Amino acid sequence: MAYDRYGRLINYLRISLTDHCNLRCVYCMPDDISFRPNAELMQDDEILMLVGLFAQLGFDKIRLTGGEPTVRQGIVELVRQITGTPGVRTVTMTSNGVLFERLAAPLAEAGLQRVNFSLDTLDPEKFQRLTRRGALEQVFKGIRAAEAAGLTPIKINAVIVRDYSDTDVVELARLTYDFPWQERFIELRPFAGAAHYLRSQVVKADEIIGRIQSTLGPLELMNGGELDGEARLYRLSGSKGDLGFISTVSKSFCADCTRLRLTADGRMRLCLLREDEVDLLTPLRAGASQAELRQIILEGVWRKPWGNRLAQGEVPLNRAMSEIGG
Ligand code: SAM
Repeated sequence: MAYDRYGRLINYLRISLTDHCNLRCVYCMPDDISFRPNAELMQDDEILMLVGLFAQLGFDKIRLTGGEPTVRQGIVELVRQITGTPGVRTVTMTSNGVLFERLAAPLAEAGLQRVNFSLDTLDPEKFQRLTRRGALEQVFKGIRAAEAAGLTPIKINAVIVRDYSDTDVVELARLTYDFPWQERFIELRPFAGAAHYLRSQVVKADEIIGRIQSTLGPLELMNGGELDGEARLYRLSGSKGDLGFISTVSKSFCADCTRLRLTADGRMRLCLLREDEVDLLTPLRAGASQAELRQIILEGVWRKPWGNRLAQGEVPLNRAMSEIGG
């Protein structure tokens, strides 16, 4: 088991399978981004070796993300191998959904259990502007295919950015009247890729809740306010699904954090909002033994930080979200 120095049990690994993406969301990456050469990214055998080591250390929950995980060559076979790794209990994915119409069934058959989709607006024209190349209809087909393949419960993540998607929250919330989905609203986090966004473009959860309530009526707090992962859950009266609010910027949830990230180039990212990283790929490629790599992982977990330093003006600038893995 891997504990950090604050006594937190860390058992959830988010792996960025690639920094490449088939969309260019305005707050995430520039249109002319250059991706890392393939040789700098973890290869399948390297990912599988690291997953095996993490699983031996008690990491039984894995989320595959990116970049866009579905653009990785051989994704279905890689998922099959990861889900088959002894000690791994849950494998989920975060995706923009663009390729899910054809991938949902094979991924489910390979052992994937659930998907969180990213969708910030239900307006096709605005979606095109926000993602710079996506077709909303394709994403919807992908979500329905995932539902049909049993990759449920479906969760939909919307990053709310002032003057882009803040006016969409009511329409997104309405989705839960028709579908048993969890619609989750996420505060924009200041990263390298989004550094040009001013703090005023962060829309806090309280404001989003206020907008929804003023149009759709009161929200009922669920689970007595206990967090579900990082989301606080509410429900609209008469709806089939839930609403979740993830307020990383306005309220941190460090005490409940169980997670570690592995970047596409094989670095352990100890906290999403801090720059601290531990390189695993370089020692792995230099021939470190499994015991040595396990030791590096345990030492990294031990020094996992507590708390972001956004209030002190410290913004993590060394990487964009697309490289760290959302
Ligand atoms: N391509 C996949 C997707 O679209 O879900 C996985 C990677 S993407 C980086 C993961 C999530 O991070 C998306 O929901 C995206 O909207 C979110 N994201 C990107 N930049 C962000 C930022 N600065 N603050 C908050 N969320 C961000």
